[in-house]
Amino acid sequence: MLPLELRDRAAALDAADSLARFRAEFHLPRGQIYLDGNSLGLLSRPAEAAVQRVLGEWRALGIAGWGEAGAPWISLCETIAAQLAPLVGAAADEVCVTASTTGNLHQLLATLFEPTHASRRAILGDELNFPSDAHAIASHLRLRGLDPATHYREVRSRDGRTLDEADIVAAFAPDVQLAVLPAVLFMSGQLLDVARLTREAHARGIVIGFDCSHSIGAVPHALTADGVDFAFWCSYKYLNAGPGAVGGLFLHRRHHHRAPGLAGWWGVKLDRRFAMSHTHEPARGAAALHVGTPPVLSVAPLQGALELFAAAGGIASLREKSLALTAWLIELADAHLAPLGFEVVTPRDPARRGGHVALAHPDAWRLCQALKAAGIVPDFRPPDIVRLAPAALYNSYRECLEAVARLANIVATRAHEQFPAARGSVT
Ligand SMILES: *Cc1c(COP(=O)(O)O)cnc(C)c1O
Repeated sequence: MLPLELRDRAAALDAADSLARFRAEFHLPRGQIYLDGNSLGLLSRPAEAAVQRVLGEWRALGIAGWGEAGAPWISLCETIAAQLAPLVGAAADEVCVTASTTGNLHQLLATLFEPTHASRRAILGDELNFPSDAHAIASHLRLRGLDPATHYREVRSRDGRTLDEADIVAAFAPDVQLAVLPAVLFMSGQLLDVARLTREAHARGIVIGFDCSHSIGAVPHALTADGVDFAFWCSYKYLNAGPGAVGGLFLHRRHHHRAPGLAGWWGVKLDRRFAMSHTHEPARGAAALHVGTPPVLSVAPLQGALELFAAAGGIASLREKSLALTAWLIELADAHLAPLGFEVVTPRDPARRGGHVALAHPDAWRLCQALKAAGIVPDFRPPDIVRLAPAALYNSYRECLEAVARLANIVATRAHEQFPAARGSVT
């Protein structure tokens, strides 16, 4: 049992929360406390309405949905890029709403990796990044006739949880042409100093980009001002655009003269999309990196979901609440879970923390099963991490307290020991 006064504190924090009203805009799973918005954000009413709107347009218009009269599918991605740009601190024409995270990394490597000099053709990543990025980089090197064993480098972690920025800078070697790093590490939730790393990379002539899958919608970025060369992300985590929703990319305007590495008809000038010319006349800016017809049904919910970010006052106010929620979780975990064998592995410095809290425990897999049975949705990342992600738009301080209380109770009563010890992977 946690001290009762904590309930009063949670109630006071919830009562003072100016974003609490947005909770009612979401379909919250009945009887559950959902803390997995960093894997799949929940469905909001505006996102649902946007899908319904597109279905209605398809039903009523057929092919005319691509036409101009009242059905703007033709420029839907550009409209959404303009709505999304403030979240990453970019101009509208530096953002392209397209493809998946991994597909966008392939496109950006094809566009920006220039192994023209034999002395400078390595790509730098890190050993803690999401595996898909490493797969994309290795396969891209092979396509260019380079062996990943010699041309792909990974910055090592000292503690297996975080990256030391001094180690990253030290890895910016003279033979590295391009670097890809996560803005927020998907396991520990460490937030890297994007501005500093960009400065250090540029001082050494290295092109640098960030995977923002775990930061977009939770952490503000200033990609243009920081001079970042490129970035890419998914929309199904903190952006709440739905399973497999269309992703996005950022291409700094200093690169807008470049031809797309992977070209397609959707990347031509908007008014030339149906001109059917075999000459590729690239669209202005990042939109030139479109490849084929956008998946309109997976684009629509993003537009609806973004309405709530604007209504909530933008990413800065969401970040403020997100940091308060994770600070509260860390305080509770330190006081009530650390004595039970948990360790908070997420950085405590707010300037180094993304949107979730990672708890390490040797029995993390069984604890996650027991938490789910107790009505809390966390997620497990092998080998020993329980991730709790309170989303600023729909989670409360009381829910964070409840999650910690139930987790403490599970350990105290050894309720998790009834679950099989096999460590599986959870999606
Ligand atoms: C979720 C995530 C991905 C997912 O890639 P998809 O192509 O969208 O499946 C990639 N990178 C990171 C860092 C992620 O967190």
